Amino acid sequence: MSETTSDGPRPVGPASPTATAGPVSPGPSPELAARAAALDAADPLADRRKAFVLDDTVYLDGNSLGALPAAVPGRLAEVVAREWGELRIRSWTESGWWTAPERVGDRVAPLVGAAPGQVVVGDSTSVNIFKALVAAVRITEGREAPANAPVRDEILVDAATFPTDGYIAASAARMTGRTVRPVPMAELADAVGPRTAVVLANHVDYRTGELHDLPGITAAAHRAGALAVWDLCHSAGALPVRLDEDGADLAVGCGYKYLNGGPGAPAFLYVRAEHQGAFDSPLPGWNSHAEPFAMAAAYAPAEGAVRGRVGTPDILSMLALETALEVWDGVDIEQVREKSLALTDFFLECVAESVPAGRVGSLTPAERERRGSQVALRCPGAERVMGELIRRGVVGDFRRPDVLRFGFTPLYTSFGDTLRAASVLAEVLAEVLAEHPAGG
Ligand SMILES: *Cc1c(COP(=O)(O)O)cnc(C)c1O
Repeated sequence: MSETTSDGPRPVGPASPTATAGPVSPGPSPELAARAAALDAADPLADRRKAFVLDDTVYLDGNSLGALPAAVPGRLAEVVAREWGELRIRSWTESGWWTAPERVGDRVAPLVGAAPGQVVVGDSTSVNIFKALVAAVRITEGREAPANAPVRDEILVDAATFPTDGYIAASAARMTGRTVRPVPMAELADAVGPRTAVVLANHVDYRTGELHDLPGITAAAHRAGALAVWDLCHSAGALPVRLDEDGADLAVGCGYKYLNGGPGAPAFLYVRAEHQGAFDSPLPGWNSHAEPFAMAAAYAPAEGAVRGRVGTPDILSMLALETALEVWDGVDIEQVREKSLALTDFFLECVAESVPAGRVGSLTPAERERRGSQVALRCPGAERVMGELIRRGVVGDFRRPDVLRFGFTPLYTSFGDTLRAASVLAEVLAEVLAEHPAGG
C-alpha cells in the first residue's frame, strides 16, 4: 500500500535545509526544563502514573504495547489460583467468565463513545476486521435498492492502512465477490459512490499519527448509501472517539495499545445497535448462538453484541484487560486529549530547539486537530538512531523505511519524560551527524 501521506515530511527546527556539520552540544535549555516541571506540576492526570508498573525508562511505545497496570499481576494470580485452580469449571458461571466478553465490552464502550450493549471483546483485531467487513457487505447486500442501482461491488480501503487491514479486506472482498479499491484518506470522502458497499478506514494512521475525519467520512459513506467500518487501534484510549454520535456503523480496536491489556490482549468489536439485527457474522461460532448450551445443529444468532462472539473466549487475557481498564475509572477522556496534545506539542518544540537543524522531518501534522497521540519523525539512519535511543533508555520504535515513532500515553507519560526523550534524541542525532556530516 502507499507510503505517501497527504503531506510530506516537514523539517523540524530552524528552517535550514542543510545540516550544520559537527557535533552540536544539545542539553535542554533551563527554560525548557522549567516549563516541563511547571507542566508536570499542573497536570491533572499526573497521579495516574502510579497505577502503572514503570521504571526510569522513558516509555514512548504505548501505541504498540501499553505498559503494565499495577493491578493486573495480583488479579491474574487470583484468577489462576482461585477461579481456575479451585473453582475450575464452576467459574464459567460463578466467576462470570461466560459473560466476560460483553461485560468487558461495556467497559471499553465509554472510551469509544458507545452506549452499552454494542461492544464485545474477543479475538484479535485482524479477526474482528474480517467479521466487521463481511458483515457490513452483507448488510448492504440485504438492503432494498432502486431498480437501476448499480451493484455495490467495491470496498474502499485507506491506501496507507496498517497491512493486516488491507490483507483481510482483500480476502473479505474475494469471498463476497467484491473488489478492494485503495484510496488515500484525503480522497476517501469524495471517492465513495453508488458502487461502494463499505469503507474501511483508520481513525489514526499508525505510521504518521495523523487523525482522520471520522464524522466527515462516515457521513460521506452514508450519503452514498455505504457503510463505514473504523479501525480505532490508534485512537481508542488516546483521544475521544464518538462512535454513536458520529454515526459509525461498525468499528474494531486493539486491547494492547492505549488500553494496556497486555501482549495479545483481545480486541473489541462495535456493532451499532441498529445494525445488530442484520449483523450476519462470517464466523458464527457457538458462543454467538442464541442458545449455546442447547447444542443445536442449526445456527440461530443471539441478539445484541453477543452476535460478534465466535468461540470460547481467552479468559486469562480477557480478565487482564478488564483489570487494566480500571485505570480509566474517573478519568475524563477530554483531559486525556488535552494532555496528549500538550505532550506532542512540547515534544515537537523540544526537538525543534535541540536537534541539529534539518536533521529530522516530521510526518505528524502540525495542526492539533489532525494529530493523534504520536509523533513520527523521519531521518536518515532511523533504525540505528532508534537502537541508540533504546540503549539510552528512551523507548520508541522504528518503522520502515526511515520513521521514528514516539507514542505519548497521557496516563503515564510526563512532560519531564518528553523533554528527556527530545534531549537524548538530539544527543544521538548529533553523534550520528558527526560521523556522517552528509547525513547518509
Ligand atoms: C495494531 C494494529 C492492528 C493489530 O492487529 P492484530 O490482529 O492485533 O495483530 C491492526 N490494525 C491496526 C491499524 C493496528 O494499528
